[in-house]
Amino acid sequence: MTNKGGIVVSVPPRSSTTRSGFSATSSGSAASSDGATGGPCRFCGAELRHTFVDLGMSPLCESYVEASRVNAMEAFYPLRVYVCEQCFLVQLQEYVTPEDIFTEYAYFSSYSDSWLAHCRDYVDMITERLQLSADSLAVELASNDGYLLQWFVQKGIPVLGIEPALNVAEVAEGKGVPTLTEFFGAELASKLVGEGTAADLIIGNNVLAQVPDLNSFVAGIATLLGPEGVVTIEFPHLQQLVEQNQFDTIYHEHFSYFSLVSAERIFAAHGLRIFDVDELWTHGGSLRIYACHTANERLGESAALAAVRARELEAGYADITTYSVFEARARETKRKLLEYLIAAKRAGKTVVGYGAPGKGNTLLNYCGIRTDFLDFTVDRNPYKQGRYLPGTHIPIHSPDRIAEVEPDVILILPWNFKDEIIEQLAYARSWGAEFVVPIPEVTIY
Ligand SMILES: [Zn+2]
Repeated sequence: MTNKGGIVVSVPPRSSTTRSGFSATSSGSAASSDGATGGPCRFCGAELRHTFVDLGMSPLCESYVEASRVNAMEAFYPLRVYVCEQCFLVQLQEYVTPEDIFTEYAYFSSYSDSWLAHCRDYVDMITERLQLSADSLAVELASNDGYLLQWFVQKGIPVLGIEPALNVAEVAEGKGVPTLTEFFGAELASKLVGEGTAADLIIGNNVLAQVPDLNSFVAGIATLLGPEGVVTIEFPHLQQLVEQNQFDTIYHEHFSYFSLVSAERIFAAHGLRIFDVDELWTHGGSLRIYACHTANERLGESAALAAVRARELEAGYADITTYSVFEARARETKRKLLEYLIAAKRAGKTVVGYGAPGKGNTLLNYCGIRTDFLDFTVDRNPYKQGRYLPGTHIPIHSPDRIAEVEPDVILILPWNFKDEIIEQLAYARSWGAEFVVPIPEVTIY
């Protein structure tokens, strides 16, 4: 069994059927029901034998297609997710390197009002809690366009952004956020420490999932963090993903999906101790974990941390059989969404999308929804307007197009912002449009 603090590097071969019903081959080498394995676990190295969900073949969900490329070939990769039976890290193989994905990244964090408000609240809270001042240093890993660090800059607190995507890093620099355009890991952390950098606060929002070399990344955090420093990391909570049926939040850019139980193991293996957690509404339900050096005894474990951990253990997130039920629900959601859309099209209705988020691309590719169902989608991000969704090649327009076309049905793809979007589109009620949200189940508003 897994040793709680350490990294497990070898797994004894199993010769009999496991509890979840996946059988191992007679040779003892690991295999799931169709003989495929997921390679070694990104954290502990155990062979991945249990499929969490197989969403078929899909293109990279952020690779929006330019008009001139719409008739060109497009790369599709398996979107098959495994769960490690040793450390319970849910994960995808790395089919593409982060260099392919993140050097020109289409996701500008600053295009959602509620997300920006969330970040501003965080900066106020953490500045107060850690008593940050002009003598402190806040470092953000994957600092994007400076959407968050800008609020520290306004308070006069020194910051450093680390962001590999050149195009978004340039926007950050324009906001007065000093930004290193590099990938973060153990090597960069050592280099920064060698130059005299020590962080009082390290922030990682929605980046942990996107790190192929998880051990190097977390080791780098431990290196860069000052002795009394605190790291806060936000990630979508696996328990929410499962319970809210959020299979569309799985995409190639997200290599790992964390429970608190799996995150604690990974941090502990690198000398970091999680001491508190906030449960957040963002991205369909996230955790914000607070960690410090294991040697730092000033920060005691919070009641919230004990409660989330107990809830996960109660729900079975440290038991491999818990993970085997997810795929059937994804398939059922696909059938229900297609039933709804087929009925709408048979009734002669005009159906369009709202939003062009990564999650929409997983959903549409998995369900096989193209312009046969959705005439177009719209997005506030000008980078995406005029391009086409990857794989499905649904055109992306400006949100103004909705008022021009007056569609009967608006399918909201970024369902995590559904309230905000339905409010923004309230005018569509005047011609009787209905709003449909696909997740956790097909619901008409
Ligand atoms: Zn593992």
